[in-house]
Amino acid sequence: MDRRKFLASAGLGLMAAASPLPLEAVTRSRRRGNTRTSGSKKLKLSFFPYELQLRHAFNLARYSRTTTPDVQVTLEWDGYVGYGEASMPPYLGESVDSVTKFLGSLDLGQFTDPFRIEDILAYVDSVAPNNRAAKASVDIALHDLLGKIMGQPWYKIWGLDPAKAPVTSFTIGIDTEEVVRKKVEEARPYKLIKVKMGLDNDQQTVEIIRQMMPDVPICVDCNQGWKDKEHALDMCYWLKERNCVFVEQPFDKEWNDETAWLRERSPLPIIADEAFQRLPDIVRFKGIYDGINIKLMKSTGLHEAYKMVTLARALDMKVMLGCMTETSCAVTAAANLSPLVDFADLDGNLLIANDRFNGMTVENGKITLHDIPGLGITPIPGK
Ligand code: MG
Repeated sequence: MDRRKFLASAGLGLMAAASPLPLEAVTRSRRRGNTRTSGSKKLKLSFFPYELQLRHAFNLARYSRTTTPDVQVTLEWDGYVGYGEASMPPYLGESVDSVTKFLGSLDLGQFTDPFRIEDILAYVDSVAPNNRAAKASVDIALHDLLGKIMGQPWYKIWGLDPAKAPVTSFTIGIDTEEVVRKKVEEARPYKLIKVKMGLDNDQQTVEIIRQMMPDVPICVDCNQGWKDKEHALDMCYWLKERNCVFVEQPFDKEWNDETAWLRERSPLPIIADEAFQRLPDIVRFKGIYDGINIKLMKSTGLHEAYKMVTLARALDMKVMLGCMTETSCAVTAAANLSPLVDFADLDGNLLIANDRFNGMTVENGKITLHDIPGLGITPIPGK
């Protein structure tokens, strides 16, 4: 490089260093068309309903469905745009109506500094109780926005090594033998298979997987479906012999005594999912469950989810990171935390036919994070 070219490139570097907003981030953000409120230093929230179409009917112990209601969110500040999302599977008790009503009641324009995460999210949390998915949508969009302003992805901002991201499981629902066989074929690239249980044909699904994929570890999610603790204990031993690694939410979420009884005797760890939602719930599960399944739509987003990981570790509990059926927006948001956890079940974006984003990818079964500022997502043109 000659001296003139060197000085020109050094000058560009100095300009970038002196700029309050990283040049690359500004360029990227502008290139993505994120300029609707250029110059406005007030947070601006926008949202619209977006029904997620499922690739296959989703059959759980308690219900079946082919769509998931969802609300897509944008948060704008000074020309940057952060994306967020609320996904509302029916058991959470939220709906498009409740989420849009909650989001419409927020006055985020009162905030001019998007880095005041504690103040902004404390305000959002204070507006009404519950509404966890609605609150998560703001938290996720705020994280995307801040990462873009800083020009860094969140796993880097948190100091996490993306190489430590775990494998993610692929879910096989409760279904006929023919459909289960088809899904096991789809699951071949994955290093961990999650089996939904809680009906009469529990063992059949596991036997089919063991025939077709003899070595891959299995984890089991009962979605509160088991009704008898002696049967549950027998199943835990049976599953242990078939290379199962844990059992999630075996009983009704209120059955703490039965769950503690099973946990004491089970050769497999017992993980809580439907039984809890937020940070203060975790402490009372010590001795009842071995670990927790954190989902952003329960935790109100990434800010509290990070605290939940820390608390669970302090209580010597295992940590799993899960998701709902969601676009790659919320799934990639969660994936940024995945280097911190024992197990990940982040396949919700693969279960829908109308994703709006490219985000984290699964390569050779492993969560792969990309060096893109914010959550690490880019909108799919035309979606
Ligand atoms: Mg579960």
